[in-house]
Amino acid sequence: MYTAIGYAAQSSTAPLAPMTFQRRALRPDDVAIEILYCGVCHSDLHQARNEWGIAVYPLMPGHEIVGRVTAVGEKAGKYTVGDLVGVGCMVDSCRQCEACHKDLEQYCLEGPTMTYATPDRVDGSNTMGGYSSSIVVSEAFVLRMPEGLDLPSAAPILCAGITTYSPLKHHGVGPGHKVGVLGMGGLGHMGIKFAKALGAEVTVFTRSQAKADEARRQGADQVIVSTDPAQMREAAGRFDFLLDTIPVQHDLNPYLETLKFDGVHILVGLIEPIEPPVHAANLVLKRRVVAGSLIGGIAETQEVLDFCAEHGITCDIEMLDIRHINEAFERMHKGDVKYRFVIDMATLKA
Ligand code: NDP
Ligand code: ZN
Repeated sequence: MYTAIGYAAQSSTAPLAPMTFQRRALRPDDVAIEILYCGVCHSDLHQARNEWGIAVYPLMPGHEIVGRVTAVGEKAGKYTVGDLVGVGCMVDSCRQCEACHKDLEQYCLEGPTMTYATPDRVDGSNTMGGYSSSIVVSEAFVLRMPEGLDLPSAAPILCAGITTYSPLKHHGVGPGHKVGVLGMGGLGHMGIKFAKALGAEVTVFTRSQAKADEARRQGADQVIVSTDPAQMREAAGRFDFLLDTIPVQHDLNPYLETLKFDGVHILVGLIEPIEPPVHAANLVLKRRVVAGSLIGGIAETQEVLDFCAEHGITCDIEMLDIRHINEAFERMHKGDVKYRFVIDMATLKA
């Protein structure tokens, strides 16, 4: 066993606080990783506060993990001590079902083991995420960090990056397509970069005029202030795809009306239930689709890391001292982060 330290919530109303705990002894296919950086995703906040009703406490968030291999199990051959590696949202799956065979472990028919707050498949213990000094993971769920990527700003690729890249690829987004990105936060700003890199024309829907110039700097061709009904009406029938990263319940109907016929509105936020309801006419009369998407498989996560290295894509980050994690959650809740906090794990030792 490895003694580790990290920040965890003990209940849905408690702030994150330091905690000492044990990481498992290496199984034959495991690698042990010293964590250097970990991104702060809005899902971490949803889970710490049990907003999805599935939290297990103590809850140690963190699924945008970059670190260095410190030990390898006796049958693990993919990595050697010293390698720079990443761990994203999943640490295991059944590895046998149709989805797993298709490299879609996130849709594992038995349910994937998430990086935190899920029972481990072997010993049933509650998984603990990357707001910590170290982690032990099967090498099959470990990614190689490509050379040339700045490590702190690459960490969010492991969730914010893959979650936006995967649906754009799946739906064949490319040249000639008009893509709208809803919400310019951690996921949204990566969605802009990927849609542009894939050749699409990109419009950002943001609540505030203040973010309009920022959105253009991120590469957006156009900006729509979603709180202005006139701008929303003017955009009617314009888009092929919408990538919706808004983390709270919202009315999809005004957005659906901005899609062309056959347009696809892709949800990544778990906004249960969709409220107010989607008008059937907004779908039926234009053959539009409301779709969902969950992160991406391990092979595709490696693909997006390599894609980012090739295209010089990284996240815009604010480095965070882990002692300020609770303030960071508050700022993320208010939409006040450009555009991802990344914890410098060296601050854990302080
Ligand atoms: P952020 O908080 O970084 O960004 C969300 C953005 O949405 C904000 O910057 C803001 O953009 C907009 N927004 C925030 N609050 C509201 C509101 N009340 N009404 C309208 N718009 C709002 O979150 P993330 O990018 O980290 O995550 C986005 C969502 O995606 C979360 O719900 C998260 O859980 C989910 N997620 C889903 C994954 C999946 O696999 N499906 C994986 C990872 C995350 P602006 O100020 O421009 O309006
Ligand atoms: Zn995430």
